[in-house]
Amino acid sequence: KKRVYLFGDKKADGNSKLKNLLGGKGANLAEMSAIGIPVPPGFTITTEVCTEYNTLGKDNVIEALKEDVQEAIAAIEKTMGTKFGDSENPLLISVRSGARVSMPGMMDTVLNLGLNDEAVVGLVNKTNNARFAWDSYRRFIQMYGGVVLGMKPKTKEDIDPFEEIMEHLKDKRNIVLDTEFTVQDLQDLVYDFKDAVKKQTGHDFPTDPWDQLWGAVMAVFDSWNGDRAIYYRKMHGYPSDWGTAVNVQAMVFGNMGNNSGTGVCFTRDAGTGENVFNGEYLIDAQGEDVVAGVRTPQQITKLGSQRWAQLAKVEEAERAENYPSLEELMPAIYSELNEYQHKLEKHYSDMQDMEFTIQNGKLWILQTRNGKRTGAAMVKIAMDLLKEGAIDEKETLLRIEPNKLDELLHPVFDTKALKRANVIAQGLPASPGAATGQIVFFADEANKFKNTILTRIETSPEDLEGMNIAKGILTARGGMTSHAAVVARGMGKCCVSGAGALKIDYKNRVLRVDGKEFHEGDWISLNGSTGNIIEGKVATMEPELSGEFGEIMKLSDKYRTMEVRTNADTPKDAIAARNFGAQGIGLTRTEHMFFEVDRIKAMREMILADTVKGRKHALEELLPMQRDDFEGIFEAMQGLPVTVRLLDPPLHEFVPHQLATQKELAEDMHISLASVKNKVAELQEFNPMLGHRGCRLGNTYPEITEMQTRAIIEAALNLKERGIVAKPEIMVPLVGATNEFVEQKKIITETANKVFKERNDSIDYLVGTMIEIPRAALLADKIAEHADFFSFGTNDLTQMTMGYSRDDAGKFLNVYLEKGILTEDPFEVLDQEGVGQLVIMGTERGRSTKPNLKVGICGEHGGEPSSVEFCNKTGMNYVSCSPFRVPIARLAAAQAAI
Ligand code: PEP
Ligand code: MG
Repeated sequence: KKRVYLFGDKKADGNSKLKNLLGGKGANLAEMSAIGIPVPPGFTITTEVCTEYNTLGKDNVIEALKEDVQEAIAAIEKTMGTKFGDSENPLLISVRSGARVSMPGMMDTVLNLGLNDEAVVGLVNKTNNARFAWDSYRRFIQMYGGVVLGMKPKTKEDIDPFEEIMEHLKDKRNIVLDTEFTVQDLQDLVYDFKDAVKKQTGHDFPTDPWDQLWGAVMAVFDSWNGDRAIYYRKMHGYPSDWGTAVNVQAMVFGNMGNNSGTGVCFTRDAGTGENVFNGEYLIDAQGEDVVAGVRTPQQITKLGSQRWAQLAKVEEAERAENYPSLEELMPAIYSELNEYQHKLEKHYSDMQDMEFTIQNGKLWILQTRNGKRTGAAMVKIAMDLLKEGAIDEKETLLRIEPNKLDELLHPVFDTKALKRANVIAQGLPASPGAATGQIVFFADEANKFKNTILTRIETSPEDLEGMNIAKGILTARGGMTSHAAVVARGMGKCCVSGAGALKIDYKNRVLRVDGKEFHEGDWISLNGSTGNIIEGKVATMEPELSGEFGEIMKLSDKYRTMEVRTNADTPKDAIAARNFGAQGIGLTRTEHMFFEVDRIKAMREMILADTVKGRKHALEELLPMQRDDFEGIFEAMQGLPVTVRLLDPPLHEFVPHQLATQKELAEDMHISLASVKNKVAELQEFNPMLGHRGCRLGNTYPEITEMQTRAIIEAALNLKERGIVAKPEIMVPLVGATNEFVEQKKIITETANKVFKERNDSIDYLVGTMIEIPRAALLADKIAEHADFFSFGTNDLTQMTMGYSRDDAGKFLNVYLEKGILTEDPFEVLDQEGVGQLVIMGTERGRSTKPNLKVGICGEHGGEPSSVEFCNKTGMNYVSCSPFRVPIARLAAAQAAI
């Protein structure tokens, strides 16, 4: 079995197709090397070894790897002309994790590995730069100590133990910046760092480079099961058996003086999708310095630099002098980089996020990957690539992550409110969006209030969970490629970064800016599109859907074969959904109409009535209100089909449970309080979800079905008179026995015929049923003999198939998800393995007796992409979902059809 794959010197054992085996990073390094990009040589230990490590343990894995790794190191030595651990010309390496998908900042990295007291001398001699060599050495001990030996801050208020030593020395030497350390200082730091390691871990810092290497490799494997990685996996639903690869690669140095540097760049704008090469770099720095946001980086292109200066309010002359772009400062390197970015984007046909280092005037590309982007950028980039001919229509659709479209449907700040807003400072527009919330200063307190703005000097991977919870992220340090910015864009979360004017005091939990103080809990607002930080709350409004969004939707409609309807109970929702492209209503829950204040009284009278006559009287009051409701909805849908479901919930949900309201009702109805109380008690059920609800109501109180049918048919006839077509589809809920449906259908048909006769006119309508009780799926062939259509109610079907109460499952589902007993909440993502069988069976059996039976879904799953794909495979005619998920379902249906 091949465990180690080499790359470098424009050759490679692997390629980009081997992502599962080599991880995303390793596969791309191999691919880049093979197409002639200058990648520092190295090798990848496969993800399979990570799994072996977890089962066989450390010693066995080292044994299995030893020979291959030794050969691989020898190959790197040959290409670089250096030697591992050598005192003359040492090879230094980096050790990085790399799962099959990018998990930014999730896993640990060790740089400068191979340094020890001898090798550092070699590095001094070789580079003629003692400062650089000793600085590399102290950075190495610091990183290795943190990542491999666990020397990290103990509490969130603590500082890093190594930083503490450095701060201490700075105080003693009366200096402020790291760059002010002398060679002697750095040597002292190395000594003190090693001392601290010995004290805290009880072991000497490892001096043998091979020991260092194995320690780092094992630490990478361990980090796969660290908290951060586990959280990230859970958030994205990635399984733990993927494992991570380990990438070992020759170090190149961006911190060797003014002819060196390092940076990050994107082939297009990750925030807006605009086709402009952009990025940031620092002269005389290592990669971590750019993303850590400690120094404010400069822009790669002149255009970018000018845009930055505008935001930062820096004059052009000062910009050109103090913050020149790479394009201006190192034109030759820039043009080489520009050539590679074109080459790589063309090669991968997607926006690339690249890291590079310049070592003594030589450019190395360290990494490339498909760049994380906002929802808006995702849509624009895909459409642009299509227009440029880089990808075809199908690929364009597959490039869009359905759930990420949601970001484009979110509110933006109201332009009028923005005019009145008090801008307290400006940062970089790191990730677009509008966020309003209360200030919190620590990631683990992001849920302290309902809406929070996580306010940090800078963010680190530990903050991920809190960043996910917060409504917006604000940092004082860091550029457009800082951790906060990259992660926020990936999450589609509003972020303003690098707002240098902010003074954040973690100890006292205060943010000071421009002579003002903001405390934890104070409200602020962020505009992620302009970088503005605004005092207090700002009103929001609905977004306008951009041109490219519309184009993606059109393209989706071209390829999908399944219809998309919406679940809507009001004309307003119906109109919103139609604007999002809904082709009809798949579910109108009529009970929602009864809950309104002025109607609930009539409803209660109907329920409390002792006689059929009393009930009919109350229903007569409800009839005109229902008819108005349906007219409104039919009108809003303008001739598109509208599925109206008959009353579903148990009656006790409508009766008053408070004494005061009970008294009021008794007076209104001229009956005794006792009889109201009696009736309420009578309706009480132990298990209402399995009780007197759905068609069991219509079958015990046929008057209800009669009234609702009459309202529907009369509404449709009224519209017909006004020249508007209405296509009602009357749906019977909770059918489990064929006769339950047959009886209801009889009432519906009789009532409709009666109305037709009265009005001397008629309309077309359908009568169908929900399939939401397992028995209905089993008997679907019999039910289909009578039903015009089926609509799967997967909420109830999930509840009854799994035996999990929809109302109570929250108590144990979270634990199940945490423990991995279930991988997904079955009320969110359809359980295809179990509940899905009933859906398939119900559809097949139904169509066995009625081949053209129309089948759809109206449970919450109808707007969830993986479930939509399943529905498509099952051969459904449509999915129905809430208005805001309609665009997502349209795309998901197209992807399913491709
Ligand atoms: C269902 O059960 O899936 C459904 C759509 O109906 P409700 O959620 O109203 O029970
Ligand atoms: Mg239901």
